[in-house]
Amino acid sequence: MERRPILVWFRQDLRLHDNEALTKAVSSDQPIIPVYVFDERVFKGTTGFGFRKTGQFRAKFLLECVENLKSNLKKLGADLIIRTGRPEEEIYHLVKETHASSVYCNRERTDEEVKVQDNLEKSLWTLGIEIQYFRGKMLFHTGDLPFPVSQTPDIFTHFRKEVEKYVPVREPLPTPTKISFSSIIKDIGSTPSLKELDFEESVGTEEFDISLKGGEGEALARLRYYLWDTDLIKQYKETRNGLLGLDYSSKLSPYLAAGCLSPKLVYQEVKDYERSKGGNKSTYWLIFELLWRDFFRFIAKKYGNEIFKISGTARQRKVSKLIDWEIFNKWASGQTGVPFIDANMRELNRTGFMSNRGRQNVASFLVKDLKLNWLLGAEYFESLLIDYDPCSNYGNWNYVAGVGSDPRENRYFNIMTQAKRYDPDGNFIRYWLPELKELGESSIFAPKKGMSIDYPAPIVDFSKWN
Ligand code: FAD
Repeated sequence: MERRPILVWFRQDLRLHDNEALTKAVSSDQPIIPVYVFDERVFKGTTGFGFRKTGQFRAKFLLECVENLKSNLKKLGADLIIRTGRPEEEIYHLVKETHASSVYCNRERTDEEVKVQDNLEKSLWTLGIEIQYFRGKMLFHTGDLPFPVSQTPDIFTHFRKEVEKYVPVREPLPTPTKISFSSIIKDIGSTPSLKELDFEESVGTEEFDISLKGGEGEALARLRYYLWDTDLIKQYKETRNGLLGLDYSSKLSPYLAAGCLSPKLVYQEVKDYERSKGGNKSTYWLIFELLWRDFFRFIAKKYGNEIFKISGTARQRKVSKLIDWEIFNKWASGQTGVPFIDANMRELNRTGFMSNRGRQNVASFLVKDLKLNWLLGAEYFESLLIDYDPCSNYGNWNYVAGVGSDPRENRYFNIMTQAKRYDPDGNFIRYWLPELKELGESSIFAPKKGMSIDYPAPIVDFSKWN
């Protein structure tokens, strides 16, 4: 008689390498059932302000990730059971049907994901089954930190100094070479189409310079490309504030967010690269940025749902609650009449991606110039970003809105100075705002009144940035 199987529930960990839940299940002597559930609330639901919870670009990216996971599992002799619905119900039924002895998954820490976990756990208890939780999202393990997570420093630099020299990054777990698959489930299920998830079928970004396909295979290829094939990492510190194209920064964020790529593997590869080809400030800086990612995750663990509230982790009460849909819609659609802002927002709307420099500027503009409720912007990003991650998104928005971990009070981005510094020739603006492509450097950043172009008048007074 076949031993009772273990059900491995994939979530934001769509990979075979360095996947603790999968590795532990494979190393048991039980057969396993890998499962992914397209949560209808995540794919079809809306945010508090009514934006679609998962925008079309991320949906397409995630479908690609799941398809790739399935084909990688097949190469190891397994398969992926796919369902669409509510994970806490679908997994429960699968456990009941298969008499699985337990459910293994990598633990999530943010509110909505935790609620799903908790609800599943409660219903599994009625079957006498438990969830076994594992880790896999970060560089550092909570237990390795020199402080309890509740004492995580609120300022990034303090956090970094306490961890980077003293806390080792553990080795990533290897990809299993073979999986003992339980074929007890006959209805394998399949990846829904974009149409079945209520999206348009033709979601494409191929026409733009920036087009990323989902999946572990693509993630590993991108990592290899950025380090070994092109040595782009060697100039990362100088190029990372770029705006146009794929290569000014690593573009690993969508893969890290979906869990197609382990941050520990990135760390290990950078260290190997440094040993083999030499390290410099740039190779270090990629790790530095990954520390930001861990920092926001620890902050989210420390403060729980505070990151999603208007007063943020700083519990700041002096914060704008203004909701003005007319102004907001101009910001969101890239129609503010401020070319640098509009170019960035149109890139986001057309591709699901925006550079870090762009994100800082459009977020600052929404909060400090338009004086809108920052949650509007954060939810809009949540919907649109191909690399949306609750901790990184809300952590960064907290920071920009002055309700988080920014040690400097009243940090302000002068949008004109930023545009001229980071897009000196105006080529980024011309790329995303073709209606301005004939303008020269004297007017591309602030088109003059009366010019015969089809572009909105600015909603703020440019003279504030003189
Ligand atoms: P690189 O410059 O190559 O950096 C390497 C990796 O380091 C990134 O992939 C990312 O995982 C991490 N990283 C870099 N900067 C940050 C940062 N400031 N905070 C956290 N991690 C960082 N990043 C997300 O992954 N998801 C989000 O939802 C998200 N929302 C953001 C919202 C705002 C308002 C701002 C200002 C930033 C946000 N970021 C978010 C951080 C950052 O903009 C992106 O991680 C980065 O632009 C992704 O491109 P890259 O992979 O080429 O980054």
